[in-house]
Amino acid sequence: MSLAAIPEYGAALPSPVNDNMPAHLKQQVEALLMVRVRDLELPPDIATLYEARSSKIRRAIMSAWFFWVGAINILLTGFDVFEQPPIALKITIAVRIFISLTCLVCGLLLRRSYLMGREQWPVIIMPLMCIAGACVAGNLSGQPEIAEGYLINALLVVYSVIMFINIDLKYAKLLALLAIFLTAIYMSINSFGAVAAKLQLFTLYAATAYALLQARRIQNRFQHRLFLINLRDEINAQETASRNAELSSMAYLDRLTDIPNRRYFDELCAAMSETTKNLIPLSVCMIDIDKFKSLNDQLGHLRGDHCLRVVADTIRNNLRGKTDILIRYGGDEFLLILPGTDEERALEVAGRVLAAITDLQHANPGSPYGIITASIGVYTHLAHPISGETLIEHADTALYRAKTAGRNRVSA
Ligand code: GH3
Ligand code: MG
Repeated sequence: MSLAAIPEYGAALPSPVNDNMPAHLKQQVEALLMVRVRDLELPPDIATLYEARSSKIRRAIMSAWFFWVGAINILLTGFDVFEQPPIALKITIAVRIFISLTCLVCGLLLRRSYLMGREQWPVIIMPLMCIAGACVAGNLSGQPEIAEGYLINALLVVYSVIMFINIDLKYAKLLALLAIFLTAIYMSINSFGAVAAKLQLFTLYAATAYALLQARRIQNRFQHRLFLINLRDEINAQETASRNAELSSMAYLDRLTDIPNRRYFDELCAAMSETTKNLIPLSVCMIDIDKFKSLNDQLGHLRGDHCLRVVADTIRNNLRGKTDILIRYGGDEFLLILPGTDEERALEVAGRVLAAITDLQHANPGSPYGIITASIGVYTHLAHPISGETLIEHADTALYRAKTAGRNRVSA
């Protein structure tokens, strides 16, 4: 016998979606989308979210970048063979191997999620190492064109970081500054021809870095805006889902007593008739308050409402866990569904519920007992299929028997 086959109260009632997006985020997002600024800085809360969502893909790009830089660096050794004198060649190859191995290690570390939150440092240090390495190789070559070629190679590495690797803009600026500074040293150490030519080249390199930084800045703003727009859509979708869930849960709940209503019972019956698991024996108790109309008439509707709430709470407190389901069937009638319960045990439960209601000693001047009592009709269904109408029909007949026998009793 599987009691789990019965849809549980909580399971059948659509619950509001888990709102894991703090409400104040929406206002922040809206405010940020309203402003028009050159740099769209994200506040800490949103920056953390942005980081959490973008860090995986960013690390994947960084890692791929390291592998490519390492591989191309080794491939370029082929040109060194033709360009460098023997001693310079050995040192150049040693520098290249060192750089490529470092790239490989950084790429692997990033892939394995090491360096989390510190990814920017290898990405900054590596291009600077390339400039330093190019400086050594260029100096050893003794030829201005070859030295210039090495420098351009190294600067391409710097430029690719600024443009394609999504590190924080301030780190991209730091890299650009350090790279230009090293380039200045490089050009002053190596012979690049006349001063005017050197200055012209240096201006070109620095201007390129500056232009790329500006492009990166615009790209950054668009990325942040896009992220904020997506976030706003997500928050809106979550709010709508939550509101819809709340509305449909309200449709299944009785507002006065806060227990499932008749509509829920209909859904439950449909679910029970479809289930292949054995829910039998299935008992139902139809509970009707005695002379409730006279309580309403003599004490007023508000007292009547209060009484209904108290009775619902009392019955609910006497249930045997999640598998017993209490429904407000209508007016002063409650329906108790007891899956996997034979008649003997159902009569026990009904007796306990009735005793709890009378124990309330809640006044009902119109009742011959002077207090709130109830009549309970118990019906036990022993065979499939289970139909709502059959359950109600039989429970109603038993309830009628309890009423005609004098009320304040349980009948099967
Ligand atoms: P009996 O012992 O035969 O059950 O007598 P009764 O007076 O209880 O008769 P019945 O069950 O037919 O009366 C139900 C009354 O419940 C009638 C209606 O005015 C009242 N009622 C139905 N819904 C509500 C409600 O939401 N609040 C209040 N206060 N009264 C309600
Ligand atoms: Mg009644």
